[in-house]
Amino acid sequence: MADEKIEMRNGVLLTPNHPTIPFIEGDGIGPEIWGAAQEVFDAAVNKAFAGQKAVNWKSILAGEVAFKQTGQWLPDETLATLKEYLVGIKGPLTTPIGVGHRSINVTLRQKLDLYACFRPVEFYPGTPSPVKHPENVAIDVFRENTEDIYAGIEADVHTPEADQIKALLKDQNQIDKVRFPDSVAFAIKPVSIEGSQRLVKAAMEYALANNKHTLSLVHKGNIMKKTEGGFKKWGYELIESDYADQTFTPPQYDAIKERDGKAAADQAWDTAKAAGKVMVNDIITDNFFQQTLLYPEHFEVVATLNLNGDYISDALAAQVGGIGIAPGGNINYQTGHAIFEATHGTAPQFVGQNKLNPTSIILSGAMMFDYIGWPEVGKLIRGGIADAISGGHVTADFTDDETKALSTSGFGTYVAEHL
Ligand code: NAD
Repeated sequence: MADEKIEMRNGVLLTPNHPTIPFIEGDGIGPEIWGAAQEVFDAAVNKAFAGQKAVNWKSILAGEVAFKQTGQWLPDETLATLKEYLVGIKGPLTTPIGVGHRSINVTLRQKLDLYACFRPVEFYPGTPSPVKHPENVAIDVFRENTEDIYAGIEADVHTPEADQIKALLKDQNQIDKVRFPDSVAFAIKPVSIEGSQRLVKAAMEYALANNKHTLSLVHKGNIMKKTEGGFKKWGYELIESDYADQTFTPPQYDAIKERDGKAAADQAWDTAKAAGKVMVNDIITDNFFQQTLLYPEHFEVVATLNLNGDYISDALAAQVGGIGIAPGGNINYQTGHAIFEATHGTAPQFVGQNKLNPTSIILSGAMMFDYIGWPEVGKLIRGGIADAISGGHVTADFTDDETKALSTSGFGTYVAEHL
């Protein structure tokens, strides 16, 4: 097949009819779930476009397999290919253990500046869930992916780096805030205006494009006033400067209340809501966890910082069936670069059993097809997954009767044949 590339021109992603899309099978159960997923993807593309369009899949290496073959966990060629072809998809990768190694996932996100981690969390009827009303969960999480405590700037105990930080704190008259200065390690939490605003913009654009009614900024700004508080403040500033006509915010409410009284502010709130504006709010992270367990229906789109987003996406995923099903994408909406991925790990104890659930990577593929402008493919895939699960055609993790469970490949074939 000819080598046709997805391109970004003037901020718009252009997808040819036969795009080359690089994929990383991944380690552990990666090849098993990828095999099932590719069968579903090809069937869905074929059905959606009656053979007029097709993906030219290009295998690239990363993780343990790459290390064994090339001596590099993330070969330069893999990074160059992902840069060149813009959009890729990957299975799980083993995190190398040892001093100086960083997670390959974190490295990929930083090298390609994939600043938005997008995790839609929705319930597919028939999925086992630990909560009474998982059907009330439909929350799209946008997690900042390049800053925060994940920057990896740390100083270990009893090191010159820790001593330098202590000296700086002494200079700033802040050393008294460190409870045990003789045995302290540090981590630095960088949070910037640009980093926060580009993430909030991604969430806002998504909310507008998908007719969502609320956007919640989730932060711990009551304690971390400059960083998490900054995220909230800069988020509201961006929304009020760039999206004033399409949104209503608490600062706007407060301003009207101050000027014209509470009744007028309530009236403005009702009018904005009736006009279909996106109602923006913010919520402290701990309260968010409580509220999403009690009233998940109150939330639609969430924008949050890196560490909060990590916890939040797994906690919400657990409500709707856990990591076997949760999809994700890491995206730079400015350059177009994106990597969609299974959100679970390599599950090494299940390798070779053809047993685990390939839904996470299959639904990540559905997200990828939406992203490249083939939403009809995404829709077919989601419909196929929904029908399979509601009909009880599931892998062992989704049923009490393991004797009736489909294998990983059996599930892929079932979905591919029933789109
Ligand atoms: P894991 O996600 O691999 O497995 C934890 C458990 O989750 C498994 O024992 C299994 O019971 C369940 N599980 C995982 N995937 C499933 C699926 N598709 N269907 C059904 N059940 C599933 O987590 P771990 O054991 O902590 O990590 C193993 C390795 O994976 C480590 O090297 C870790 O660094 C890596 N990891 C990679 C990624 C990634 O590449 N995105 C994410 C997490 C962990």
